[in-house]
Amino acid sequence: MNLKKIALSIILLFVIFMGGVIASVYIYPPKGVMIFEYHRVNDDTVDTDDYSLSREQFQEQLDYFKENNYHTISMMDFIRAEKYGEELPENPIIITFDDGYEDNYTNMMPMINAMGMKATMFMATNYIGKENYVSWQQLKEMQDNNIEIGSHTANHLPLTEVENLDNEIKLSKLLMEWNGLKTIYFFSYPNGVYTKESIQCLKDNNYLAAVTGDAGYNTFKTDKYLLQRTNVSNYRFGYIGFQWRILKTKILYRLGINQH
Ligand SMILES: [Zn+2]
Repeated sequence: MNLKKIALSIILLFVIFMGGVIASVYIYPPKGVMIFEYHRVNDDTVDTDDYSLSREQFQEQLDYFKENNYHTISMMDFIRAEKYGEELPENPIIITFDDGYEDNYTNMMPMINAMGMKATMFMATNYIGKENYVSWQQLKEMQDNNIEIGSHTANHLPLTEVENLDNEIKLSKLLMEWNGLKTIYFFSYPNGVYTKESIQCLKDNNYLAAVTGDAGYNTFKTDKYLLQRTNVSNYRFGYIGFQWRILKTKILYRLGINQH
């Protein structure tokens, strides 16, 4: 066999192998919970900000979840299922929003409610009431309308750059609770950056779980302080880009490749 034939055989084997992997993802989808990471739903910022989706794009994605038999759960539903064996719906997913933009209140919440879905929003507490961010009143209203509220620290600094972790992890939680929100149990690492110390600090302050920016599937065996999330940005290829992102997460998970 000459080199060309060997190369062609290798390519052919690779194509067959990947075809098999993709087929397996469709026939036997990985079991577990996919968590999605969003930031904004805003028609005014969609053209200038990669982290914004238009309302139409977000609605298209919610419709996709519904049509493909995905069911939204809260972070607490996931923890309860793990701790007490409570049953989860078929194909559970968690929709999360980071930062606490006001469009989460004006656009995301009504759309989620209209679909009969749930979502989780992680708030950077020093932004509460500032321009373009939610107010205290809006936060409370969200918590009463199927939007679970978690902490995204106080100042949105990467935790590797923070000297006093308590100021970011403990005080952000307490501030929200002192202002009348229900107990805060969940956390999202700014920029997806975490350290051993920050995980310990979360445990010391009675957080039950935390989400990163690494994509993948979550099972009850996944470290609950390093839950994986698939980032949903304003994809260049729109709706197809969104579907590809989900497929890619499943394929890499099936291949055992850690996604950062
Ligand atoms: Zn953030």
